[in-house]
Amino acid sequence: MNGFNKELFIGKTILIAGAGKGIGLACAKMAAELGGNVIAVARTQSDLDALASQYPDRIESWAMDVTSEVFFERVKALPVLHGLVNNAGINRVGPMEDQSNENIDAVIDLNVRTLYKISQSAITPMKNADSASIVNMSSQMGFVGSPNRTLYCMSKHAVEGITKAMAVELAEFNIRVNTVAPTFVLTPMTKPMFEDETFKKFVFDMIPLGRLGKVEDIAHSCTFLLSEMASMITGTSIKVDGGWTAR
Ligand code: NAD
Repeated sequence: MNGFNKELFIGKTILIAGAGKGIGLACAKMAAELGGNVIAVARTQSDLDALASQYPDRIESWAMDVTSEVFFERVKALPVLHGLVNNAGINRVGPMEDQSNENIDAVIDLNVRTLYKISQSAITPMKNADSASIVNMSSQMGFVGSPNRTLYCMSKHAVEGITKAMAVELAEFNIRVNTVAPTFVLTPMTKPMFEDETFKKFVFDMIPLGRLGKVEDIAHSCTFLLSEMASMITGTSIKVDGGWTAR
């Protein structure tokens, strides 16, 4: 259930990078429910098959690694693209002094370099749309620090910075660029974290609204930013954080 007009995305092609699970899956479902032609990208074919079986006319499945050159080329070759959600991201939690080069490179490669490369590839097909919108999946950790999360925070602060720069540079093509910055949401990425009761208490104590985000909370903000309802909004962020960063 959502309160959007059911025809919001009719005639619009929207690509979700990292659509197999969690937040990206919720964004893909919402865009399909609202009539969009959704290109869902994930590595796991079975995840994509499950999504496509729910919306057979609306989902085009690309079983690909979003970090690959072949994927970037395929995006660039699209005839037109109206919306992009750069959702694929990872976290490697741990004390700063223990982070390996492998962890540093993995987080920067997916959360920053890949987001840049997908967006770069999307410019050509987005220029063929009257207007277009990129939503970069950031985090509340793009605004604050938190124990054991300096590496992740670095990457999400970069996402906030890139977003502003892209918004300025791409405005002449009527391509808007914004972020959605969630607090903790229960997804396959965070499930193991909440098995630690001390950590769970820390998180709930930090969120004034007293609950975790739901994937639909995040998808609602993505949908709004992708749509023409946000046609004057670029270079900013919607924090879906229950008040975490307001403290
Ligand atoms: P998730 O791990 O549950 O899902 C991510 C999806 O992206 C999966 O379908 C995964 O297969 C896909 N993916 C990852 N790497 C990929 C690759 N190389 N190629 C293709 N697909 C790939 O993650 P999530 O919790 O839904 O997080 C999604 C985004 O939201 C991330 O950018 C994350 O940093 C951000 N975020 C999550 C939370 C949270 O609490 N879950 C909070 C703030 C921000």
